[in-house]
Amino acid sequence: MPTIRRVLIVGAGIGGLTAAIALRRNGINVEMVEQNPNWSVYGVGIIQPNNMLRALDCIGLAQQCAEDGAGFPGWRIHDKDGNHLMDAPSTCAAAPAYPENNGITRPRLQKILSDAALSAGATVSLGTTIDAIHDEGNAVRVTFPDGTSSSYDLVIGADGIYSKVRELLFGDKYRPLYIGQAVWRYNLPRLPSVTWGEMFFGPDSKVGLVPMAEKEMYMLLVSSEPGNPWMDRAQLADNMRQRLSAYTGPVAQLRERITDSAAVVYKPMETLLMPDPWYRGRTILIGDAAHAATPHLAQGAAMAIEDAVLLGELLGRDSGLQEVLDEFMRRRFERVRFVFDSCNQISTWEKQEWLGENDPNAKPGELLHSAILELMNDY
Ligand SMILES: Cc1cc2nc3c(=O)[nH]c(=O)nc-3n(C[C@H](O)[C@H](O)[C@H](O)COP(=O)(O)OP(=O)(O)OC[C@H]3O[C@@H](n4cnc5c(N)ncnc54)[C@H](O)[C@@H]3O)c2cc1C
Repeated sequence: MPTIRRVLIVGAGIGGLTAAIALRRNGINVEMVEQNPNWSVYGVGIIQPNNMLRALDCIGLAQQCAEDGAGFPGWRIHDKDGNHLMDAPSTCAAAPAYPENNGITRPRLQKILSDAALSAGATVSLGTTIDAIHDEGNAVRVTFPDGTSSSYDLVIGADGIYSKVRELLFGDKYRPLYIGQAVWRYNLPRLPSVTWGEMFFGPDSKVGLVPMAEKEMYMLLVSSEPGNPWMDRAQLADNMRQRLSAYTGPVAQLRERITDSAAVVYKPMETLLMPDPWYRGRTILIGDAAHAATPHLAQGAAMAIEDAVLLGELLGRDSGLQEVLDEFMRRRFERVRFVFDSCNQISTWEKQEWLGENDPNAKPGELLHSAILELMNDY
């Protein structure tokens, strides 16, 4: 029997929902609070690498993701004009029954996770958060904005990169850091030729086309944006098109379809890595609240899901909480740090190259390939 019977999860996003499902599988009572009253996510896509599918398979959801998304075997590399340079196949070594990568829309992933969490018996209160956490040793008392309070055996902070739980636990010592690059994303009808992830390398940016369903794909553009400039939301389509002006070939043709600023999702890249441990007393952080890497390995949500599935598995064992939390950190910290460091390195090399300051030791393609292989290993 697990010693943890009642858990509060703050944040019902990718990590929080996955944790709710994993805990419910062990009979643990789960309540979630989610500050977004509409529980909505922005409408572009997410890449599910094979190790994420392995973790989702542990909670019975990989098959549904594969059915609702679009599998693809790796990345086709092109120059800015669309000339094919090489193929970089991915691997399905972690979960051989599933594709190497699966593109899926965020709303579809959110629906799969939220349906599973609710039907497993977790509850969610929308449009609310927590105000305070008091660790009382054998329980943790949480106060809510309406003045009520309740006691839990464990609180899980899954409230993303600007985590309030992190601030309540550790103060404002750990803050996201802007790293000088941004990602632009735009949904487009899928071209029949897009059967892999397609990457196009320009002089000061790179572009990706990612399948998300039979007839849907999204374009991602990574650009350097020194100083994290303010972007006028009404100008996002113009700004995205302008940054694509060096490309010819397929990217140039697609560029003309980027016309709706409201449909452009622009995200400055911010990073954060909390030192070990990510818990204090009976409250633990998972996902972006504890670690947010740049998207260069497409592993942010994968790491959040791996955190959640492992925590659920450990809490189902007949072990004391301290033992569970220590084992969790032992199995998560180095793996997450590896992702964090690899992404930062690739980002640094890219920024240097785009400034014309090539590092002779830069090998982003090799690092990406070896990092993805490494992440297929057990942890
Ligand atoms: C541009 C970009 C591209 C990416 N692409 C990929 C990709 O292809 N593959 C991949 O694996 N990862 C990708 N990621 C990373 C991925 O989106 C995140 O790592 C992942 O969403 C983290 O999940 P999470 O549950 O920790 O946080 P989130 O998904 O941010 O969820 C946090 C939830 O907590 C809620 N919340 C916040 N504050 C509070 C509060 N105080 N009280 C209550 N609720 C609160 C939020 O509303 C939200 O629902 C990308 C990230 C970016 C920025």
